[in-house]
Amino acid sequence: MTKKISALWTDVELEAAVDAYLSMREMENDGRPFKKTEMGLKLREGALSARSKSAIELRMQNISSVLVELGQNRIKGYVPAKNVGANVSKKIQEMLNDKGIFKVPGEGATASNTSIGQELEASTADNLAAPLGIKHPKHSNSTVITFFRDDKVREWVLMHANGTCEGCGKVGPFLGVDGRPFLEVHHVLPLAMAGSDRIENVAALCPNCHRRCHLAADKKAFTESLYVRVKRLKEECLDLVVD
Ligand SMILES: [Zn+2]
Ligand SMILES: [Zn+2]
Repeated sequence: MTKKISALWTDVELEAAVDAYLSMREMENDGRPFKKTEMGLKLREGALSARSKSAIELRMQNISSVLVELGQNRIKGYVPAKNVGANVSKKIQEMLNDKGIFKVPGEGATASNTSIGQELEASTADNLAAPLGIKHPKHSNSTVITFFRDDKVREWVLMHANGTCEGCGKVGPFLGVDGRPFLEVHHVLPLAMAGSDRIENVAALCPNCHRRCHLAADKKAFTESLYVRVKRLKEECLDLVVD
């Protein structure tokens, strides 16, 4: 092997690794099957085409290392690797922060399932001091990975729903600029987890149901209920992805 080890990872590459890691972590937390090798292949076909399999593996272990330092849980299959440069470590941490993953106060160097959510739960309205906030929030120029979607799929699903949310059966809460009751399209298995952009994986949801899929405490159960409710939908998982 004479392949040259290219020096620095770009922010785009690093973020692609972080995103893939977090997708897999969520699947592991949810007890959904996933394959590291499949995800590795996807990455090498995409944003990380310049990186070797072992370089990606090591990067994932670096991310584990940063997560453990933050007191967060990590993917079991990626043992933390300490040989991560301070600069890379800092960047990974910033990216995690941007994605809402912060250091768990009082935790460090030991894996923990404590989350910010539980932290907030523990505090009561009385001792919640008003946060100072940020007067001039910083912005980053990092590139966001965009998936190319099929507009026809989006339009078909919206037409088929005909203004009625496929999650709760209610009419969209207000009229959109196109004059139709407003609904959003949702990829039931996210594109980032190799979900397809086909009508079998896309649902038309009101904003409440859509947010519920992404952020609710019962998001997993609610997502499961979509597969039952909407006959068109078919459960996809990483193991079934062949292309
Ligand atoms: Zn709804
Ligand atoms: Zn969505």
